[in-house]
Amino acid sequence: MTNKYIGRFAPSPSGPLHAGSLVAAMASYLDAKAHHGQWLLRIEDIDETRTVADATTAIMDALTAFGMQHDGEVVVQSQRKDLYQAAFERLDNLVYPCGCTRREIADSRLGVAADGAAIYPGTCRHGVAPGKTARTWRVRVPDASQGNETINFDDRWLGPLTQHLATEVGDFVLKRADGFWAYQLAVVVDDADQRVTHIVRGTDLLESTGRQIYLQRMLGFPTPHYMHVPVVLNDVGEKLSKQTGALALDLEHPMDELMKAAQFLDLSLPPVNSIAEFWRVAIAAWARRYAQE
Ligand code: GLU
Repeated sequence: MTNKYIGRFAPSPSGPLHAGSLVAAMASYLDAKAHHGQWLLRIEDIDETRTVADATTAIMDALTAFGMQHDGEVVVQSQRKDLYQAAFERLDNLVYPCGCTRREIADSRLGVAADGAAIYPGTCRHGVAPGKTARTWRVRVPDASQGNETINFDDRWLGPLTQHLATEVGDFVLKRADGFWAYQLAVVVDDADQRVTHIVRGTDLLESTGRQIYLQRMLGFPTPHYMHVPVVLNDVGEKLSKQTGALALDLEHPMDELMKAAQFLDLSLPPVNSIAEFWRVAIAAWARRYAQE
């Protein structure tokens, strides 16, 4: 397995890297290096409504300042829409058009999935109701009558986990009302196309993993190993993001930022004098602690 490891960092260019995204970048980088694997960089700009001009350049400049060199070409999602379309077509009659608005779905009061979206009650499963027009495309998840509706996986950080898509998420959107492909589809297609074997990312994405494993199965793709690392929170317990006031990283003092991120990942490192030395000791510490398999 060691020689075949392919990992990736997949930031959305909605702003510059902040302390939280540096932790995700660092964990995926350390895990790839500890396994003597490749570390790919993919710019996830599929949600063009959230893309901020120059954010990609800012992210890449920050990675360079931190001494994090990616392998291979940078993949950019907005240039790969044909691949997403082709995968969507392969799902065939597992997908269906849906005319429900967010408000209608919220009003059905089935509850809210852990990522904040209302659970879809399946209203348009058998056709868009008369008088409504199709807005989104959803994929059917198996319901209890079909059995096999539970997704189980072993998270390398969190241990064994189970998701029940029918009751926790419902049929989910693959093509959005604004015409953009959903993250869930793009990420699955790209991870398979880039032959990613190990995904290391923050627990903010944990709720998406069941959906992604389901899509992998439906598309005949292998399921990578997953590891969800803790996310950095602000003083009031919110995930750091531009919206919650995350400060940009101080690229004048990259070592301080690297040390803080390593500490957050619970790596105790000796004092170091250079970025190259930082990575040497951090990779060794990660390998001892988290990369046993
Ligand atoms: N683009 C996603 C984000 O920045 C990460 C996707 C992933 O790692 O699967 O939150």
